This record gives sequence, C-alpha cells and structure tokens, in this order.
Amino acid sequence: MKKKLRRIVSAALSAAMATSLAACGNTAATSTTAATSETNAAAETETKAEKPALTPAYSVADFQTVDAEGNRITTGRDATSKKAVAVASKYEVSQVGAEIMKKGGNAVDAAVAMGFALGVCEPFTSGLGGGGIATIHMKDGSNYFIDFREVAPALATLDKYVDEKGEPNGNTKKGGLASGVPGECAGLLYMLEKYGTMTRAEVMAPAIRIANEGFTVSTYCANAINDAYQTAQEFPEMQKVYWDENDLPYGEGAVINNPDLAKTLQKISDEGADAFYKGEIGQAMVDTLKEYDGVMTMEDLAKYTVLEHEPVEGEYRGYKIISSPPPSSGGTHLIEILNILENYDIGSMKINSPEYVHTFTEAFKLAFADRAKYMADTAFTDVPLDGLTSQKYADERAKKIDPAKAMEEAAPDDPTLFEHTDTTHFSVGDIDGNCVAITKTINYYFGSGVMVKGCGFMMNNQMDDFSTDKDSVNVIEPGKKPLSSMSPTVVLKPDGTPFMVTGTPGGSRIFSSVAQTISRVIDHKMTLLDAICVPKIWNCSNKNKLDYEKNLKGYEEYAVTEDTIAKLTEMGHGEIKTAASGSVNSIIYNDDGTITGVGDPRQDGKAVGVD
Ligand code: GLU
Repeated sequence: MKKKLRRIVSAALSAAMATSLAACGNTAATSTTAATSETNAAAETETKAEKPALTPAYSVADFQTVDAEGNRITTGRDATSKKAVAVASKYEVSQVGAEIMKKGGNAVDAAVAMGFALGVCEPFTSGLGGGGIATIHMKDGSNYFIDFREVAPALATLDKYVDEKGEPNGNTKKGGLASGVPGECAGLLYMLEKYGTMTRAEVMAPAIRIANEGFTVSTYCANAINDAYQTAQEFPEMQKVYWDENDLPYGEGAVINNPDLAKTLQKISDEGADAFYKGEIGQAMVDTLKEYDGVMTMEDLAKYTVLEHEPVEGEYRGYKIISSPPPSSGGTHLIEILNILENYDIGSMKINSPEYVHTFTEAFKLAFADRAKYMADTAFTDVPLDGLTSQKYADERAKKIDPAKAMEEAAPDDPTLFEHTDTTHFSVGDIDGNCVAITKTINYYFGSGVMVKGCGFMMNNQMDDFSTDKDSVNVIEPGKKPLSSMSPTVVLKPDGTPFMVTGTPGGSRIFSSVAQTISRVIDHKMTLLDAICVPKIWNCSNKNKLDYEKNLKGYEEYAVTEDTIAKLTEMGHGEIKTAASGSVNSIIYNDDGTITGVGDPRQDGKAVGVD
C-alpha cells in the first residue's frame, strides 16, 4: 500500500516537475516520464530494508520555501548582522558559514566550509566532481580571482564528441566522456591555505557531519531528484543515495545521508587534496568513468592545478566592479554591459518598461556578439580583455543602439547553445571587509549522471560548455578550459570598501542577471531583496530575441506586461518569450555599518547572520 501511494505521489511529482524545473531554468533534466508503472514493477516484488530514520545535521524546520498555492515565498530570506553574513541557496549551508565565522573564522574559512557543505546538501548543482571560480576581496584592499574550473582531459579530442558529419554526438552531455578534470577539491583547499585561517579539519567538519547525519529534502530538491529519474536508471550508482528503500526518488521532507561521501570528505580532510587527485578516490573516478567510455587518467588528475588570475575590473557610476576573467566570459561582459548602460539615465526608466527592456536587451546583444567572437580560455587564444572592459569601447558600442528600434545583428554563433543553467552561487562577507563570491557547478543538474563508485559524488558534464564547432574559439581541445558565464562579483564603494557581493547560476543568463541586480541597487536605490526579486529580462545572443521572467508573488508592479510586449514588438523585437533562471544569493554593506544577506526565493536561498 505504502509503495503504491509513493508511486502515485512520484508520478504526480514528475508531471509537476517539468513545469517546476523549467521554471527554474533547468534545461538539463529532460525526463517527464519518471516512475512509470513498468519501471516500478521491480519495486513491487522486492522490498529492501527500511533505511534508518535520521535527524538532519542542520534543522530547516522553521524555513518555508513555498506557500500552499505553490508560490515561492519571498519573506524570511534575508538576515542582517553587525558582524558577518553568509548566504547560499541552502539554509543549512548559510548556517555552516555563520557557524564558522562565529568560531572566529574569516569569510574565506566560511566560504570553503560552505563550498564543501553545498556539495553534500545541494548535490545536483555542484560538488567534488565539479569546479568553479571565486572572487575574493580582503580587508587590506587586495582582490583575488581563483580559477578551479575543470580542464579537458588529455585524450578528450574533438572527434570523440562529434559524428562523421561533425555534428555533436551527445558525449559532452552524459557518460564518461562528458567530464572535465574536476577542480573543486583543489580549489577550495587552495583558498583555505592561502587566504583562510582555520584548519582543513575545522572547515570540512560540517560537510562531513551533513553527509553522515543527513539533510532534509526541500520541494525544490525533491523535484530535482525526481526529474533525474531516467538518468538514475541509466547510471544506477546514484540510486544508492537518492532513492529510498522502495526504489523511488526520495520525496520532500525525507532526510538523505551519504556515507560514501562522508568517507571521501573525511579522507580529504585527513590527507589533503592528494587523496583526491593522486590516491584511491582519483582511481575510483578514473575506473568509474572508464566504465562509461571515459578517457580521464590518473595523469590528468595529478596534473590538475588551481590558477590565480587578475580579476577584471570596471567602474559603474563610481562603484568599482571586481569580477571574473576568462575562462569565464561573465565578468568581462558584466562590465561591458554596465559600461554601455552608463550611457543612459537608467534610474529614470521604470523597471521593465519598454524603454528599460529595450535598452538592456540591446546592450546584451552587443555583449553577446563580442562573446561569440572573442571569448575562450586565454591559454589557447588571445582575448582583448582591456578593450572589452574599457568605457570608451562601450561608448562606441552604445552608439549602435537605436532608442526606437530593435537591432538586427548577424550572429557569428549562438553562445546559448554551449551552456546550461544549473549551478550554485554563494556569498560571504564580514565586517572587517573580507568578502568572498563563489559560483561553482557540475553543469547540468546531477552533471553527467555518473556517480563515482563508492565515493558518493557526481561527475560534471562541463565538456558541454565547449563548442563542437571546429571553427569556434571555444572548440574542444585537450588541456583547455570550457568557456563559462559564471560571474562571482564584488562591488566596492567609491572609497574602496565593500558594497555588494553577488553572483548567480543561470548559464549564459548569469552576467545579464548580475548586471540587472547591480543596476537596480545603484540606479533605482532598491533594497537588495527587491533588486533580486523583481523579474529579470535576458537575451543570450546577438540575435533579435528576448526572454522575460514572470513575476514572483508580490512583484506584480514590475511584471513585463502585455502592453510592454506589444510596444516592444512594435519596436521590432522578435521572439519574445518567458524564461526563468537564477539564484542571486547576495550581500550588501549598509550605510549604518550593518551587513544584509539575501537568499534568492526562486530556489532555497536564505541568509544567516552572525550575532
Ligand atoms: N556551466 C555553466 C558555466 O560555467 C554554468 C551553468 C549554470 O549556471 O547553470 O557558465
């Protein structure tokens, strides 16, 4: 009886999930047919032992994300502190960040602890099998950019990813060939060693605890797990963690632990990154990927190196923008867009009015035209970064915008084809002025689908962020990093002290989302919560099209209306449609000396302050 009930719930969820995950911008999970009666026949005949009841390591009992009608709740997402704030797309993880800072850790210690913890309780967006990038501002005024993006393995040549006609064969998306060499473990530990103050054991303890004791499955998480039903059929190792004793995806309210991942994290905590890159964890990765035709070797893993680059810097109305250089395109185009917007009195435009949408989307088109032409791993191609981020260049670009008519500009390529929308961003700031913005990812939800046997973590499918077009600057090449859009950003006040810490997931919608958030705070003097909640608009190409987001409940006043769409159509905008994405978990330093963090209500974001 119990099984039957769960099956019905699961089937209903799977129908709902397509809508819900599409609403979150999740293009990864395509299954809409999870938990069919046929596939559940096995569950009818064989009942496994009940898994033991668990009490989650961090309680989220006082946090509601969705109301009775299914609307995302926008209240209870923020926290203000005189000392420090941590904000992630999981409440548990924000609690981890605040706990570390309360124990005397700085923002970097907190960020590293949060990074490891996110891989456990938001396993579908990031983890040890993935990579990321971080922008750090330290209290002495120095800025750093840490690149722990994945690298294409030495044997990952283009021919493995295309058919005889040169068309993509699907290998960038799932299975053993889809993964780049993961950078997360090395990246987080590098940051800790260089800019943190605590020991590995101290910052990894919370993640290990969550992996052992479990975390509570939210509505959002349940949808993600359920939507991966077909993937879990194809790559059954992940069933061990994310399915219950009746062979069905865990539902909302369940508590999931992951003892294999706890062991993996413990080993890294005891022995350091070498345990991952040179020891038995690495060997398990190589062996598991090989079973699914992967080509990653122990040599690829041993060679993985974290890089530091100069962050890209720009200015917007006197505020300083510090953000991500290649291998991400994000920071560069964030600055280019803001530089273009500087030519307009944005503050006088009503948000999401025809004039506002037109100005932003034309700026996005110009940035995307440059992106397709110039952006790739700078170890493989020269990128004119200074030009792309210069105000003068942006002023010239702005002249191309006709205030009355949408631009038709030929695209050298459509970059949206190369990226997907499933990642995580978190921000930490302390009152001393140390701030960390990290965006990290395994790319699609649950990455390539491959869980490393006995180790409990999912492998990335970051190879899908490359182009399979041999003429693209971002074409697959061994040893190269795929182009990203991730834009972890720190905004400084004119006096050089921190103002905002921001970023978001959302694939190629990332930097235009960040630009809108920053502009709303600076140009419209909005609260951070409103700046995050007001619906956004996007154009992720230089083609004549436009996406807009439906408003969250309570933000009707800023909706893109039928009238606005009619006016935009009159101005020549084509292909206007709805879309969604993002989880802009950000921090603002207030004038009264306090710090406010806001978790994005579109996912499970919630800030926690240190008291
Ligand atoms: N893999 C994408 C990138 O690196 C991020 C995907 C996402 O944000 O969801 O830009």
